[in-house]
Amino acid sequence: MKKKISLALFIAFITALLPLSLLACRKDTKPTTTYKIWLDIQEDGIEAAQTVEFFNDTPYTFEELKFNVYSNAFDSRKPLACESQEQNEAYPEGPSFGKFELKQLHGDVKDYDFDFDKNLITVFLDRPVAPGQSATVKTVYSFTLPHTKLRYGFNERGATLSGFYPQLCAIVDGDWYYDDFSTIGDPYFADVADYEVTFNLPDGFEYVSSGIGKTSQEDGETIVCAKAKNIRDFAIVLSDELPKKSEKHNGVELNYLGENPDTLEYAKKALNLYSSIFGKYAYDSLSVADMPFVAGGMEYGSICVINESLSGETYEEVVAHEIAHQWWYSAVGSNNLISAWQDEGLTNYSTYLYFIDNNNLVYADDMIASAYSQYRRFCDIQNSVGEPAVGKLGGRLNDFPGNYYYTNLTYNKSLMMWKYAQDALGRETLITALARYAEKYRFKIASEDDLWNSLDETSQDASALIKNWIKAV
Ligand SMILES: [Zn+2]
Repeated sequence: MKKKISLALFIAFITALLPLSLLACRKDTKPTTTYKIWLDIQEDGIEAAQTVEFFNDTPYTFEELKFNVYSNAFDSRKPLACESQEQNEAYPEGPSFGKFELKQLHGDVKDYDFDFDKNLITVFLDRPVAPGQSATVKTVYSFTLPHTKLRYGFNERGATLSGFYPQLCAIVDGDWYYDDFSTIGDPYFADVADYEVTFNLPDGFEYVSSGIGKTSQEDGETIVCAKAKNIRDFAIVLSDELPKKSEKHNGVELNYLGENPDTLEYAKKALNLYSSIFGKYAYDSLSVADMPFVAGGMEYGSICVINESLSGETYEEVVAHEIAHQWWYSAVGSNNLISAWQDEGLTNYSTYLYFIDNNNLVYADDMIASAYSQYRRFCDIQNSVGEPAVGKLGGRLNDFPGNYYYTNLTYNKSLMMWKYAQDALGRETLITALARYAEKYRFKIASEDDLWNSLDETSQDASALIKNWIKAV
């Protein structure tokens, strides 16, 4: 890296930029919550400044805002951010921690409280924000990354920055929805917002991120400004080893950081299929990065990470799975703190359809057969230890007994359920219902009932056929 920007200069720089960029943002779109984040990436840590303009598009009035600081869950004063069985895989070099430090918070603010244990910043506003009104909160903070193969950290291949910033909790029924960080599942839940993130690209590094990035040279440094609309979270992947490829496909900018010659083809096939059956892709870009990762892959707003150690059809399955999440997770949100099966089940079913569409019926059938066999084995094991499986889909992440339990219900049983729904309703009816669901709840958060209603609006009492699957059977 060539030079350091001092924090004082950095803040002067962003303060000067602010009025112009806010004006630019407001011109052509309907009001929405916006994040503007500036990052100064250095080897020993990252300095950040952030302006969030919360736009209240709900019928409720808010006197406070709540921000979840997911990166604070990686602090050394807390347990490692994974299940104990995952520890060797997630931290191959041994336990490692990050540090988030809040340095300033101001704006339309009377007071604030940072609850370190809950990773939660509560901002008490200087006036209530009624429907249609806005409130601005500016923060300055710094963070260091843990050395890990989890979703936030660095490893031998590069770094993944996700959940690094104070992020507004999702609003559910007029309240900020919060639950404790969970090492099981994905405890990340937010409403959509527009993002503009500016960062320096360290020398020798390539990157992919949410949204479309524009690079410029300033004083010998490469500066990236990436913009994304209607995403639920913003992520960046940096690598000083992996090559980057970009191309345009049906108006979508595709970016790939990695060395698999087939990835972009898989991505295009997935985009083509899901767009044709569930409705148009919601974003103007899609990025994929191959990185060391503890699970198969991970989805973020218009970007996903794939575990680089996978190959063949397993790798293809993960690419198709993570891209399906752009429909089920990103465009259509659901509460994955209590209802993770909702997006994972639809995502797995979409992936099954991907292999059917590719005429790889053997793999598609295998997905269903292995969901059944794994689920049966799970039930047998639970019975053999005298703790029969409770087959209820959903429930708080923190209430699941472990990853094995969570995976069998959230991924396997929910795939079995959607395959059953397809057999019972017919593929065309089911896809019509899911397209209706995708259209109605695009950029919103859909409850379980919203999903059932979309089914019933397409085919009377369709939900009654499959609701038993989510109960404790
Ligand atoms: Zn998934």
